[in-house]
Amino acid sequence: MKRRTVLSRSVAALALAVAGSAPATGEHSDFATATRETYTLLPDTDHATTVHVIEGSEPGPTAMVTGGVHGDETSGLRAAENVASWDIARGTLVVVPRVNVVAIERGTREGTGGDLNRLFPPGEEPESKLARGLWAEIERHDPDVFMDLHRSLGIYGVQPGYVGQAIFPSAAGDAQQHARAVAELLNDEVVPWYMPLHKYHSGGPMPESGPLIANKVGQDLGTPAYVVESTSFLLDLPTRTAWTTRAAAELLERHGIERINGD
Ligand SMILES: [Zn+2]
Repeated sequence: MKRRTVLSRSVAALALAVAGSAPATGEHSDFATATRETYTLLPDTDHATTVHVIEGSEPGPTAMVTGGVHGDETSGLRAAENVASWDIARGTLVVVPRVNVVAIERGTREGTGGDLNRLFPPGEEPESKLARGLWAEIERHDPDVFMDLHRSLGIYGVQPGYVGQAIFPSAAGDAQQHARAVAELLNDEVVPWYMPLHKYHSGGPMPESGPLIANKVGQDLGTPAYVVESTSFLLDLPTRTAWTTRAAAELLERHGIERINGD
């Protein structure tokens, strides 16, 4: 458990006790009253996938997290599933952990209609049924922050063409500063000193990066948006899943979404 989680729990428990309404709860009880809902996006199609909506007990921002856009990028998918299991104190967290189920079931990058993360041209209609369905869902929730979790094969800046261990922000809001700060935090607290190649970088802002989902969110909605890329180069699945999950947690916290359960 994170220290600040303990602190916030203590403060809330104290508030309840002062109000004279502290329930006789055991140590495993959670005072939090986050609500959870799931439903199916694109039901009755090959693309049917689960959307998780977690509401904190207090009003706050809306965040949206996607994983599994590329079907063979298991660490991004699992990190999104981790996020979908959280309770949050305030705001709304919308998670689609398995966006591209056809590709996930095949274990391939692409499902049907080509590379899904190249079908979201800014300013234009998305270019497949799945892309249009996901985009409609994003517009409906109108998130204050958006994040898409991926896995790369190589090292950013070392192996040309690879983007592993980078966080790419949109140009909107403070996204570039947040991406830089979270990359530094991961390097300080998560990446071991003996793995200097695996330090995270904050990539340049996305305006020129083409028809990516997060780029369209940044440009069309003016929303801080991020692509998180963790590499499979010398990193096993549990490790890169954990690092990607931590990156998501830190970025979300910077946008006012803080989890209140889990370690
Ligand atoms: Zn990817």
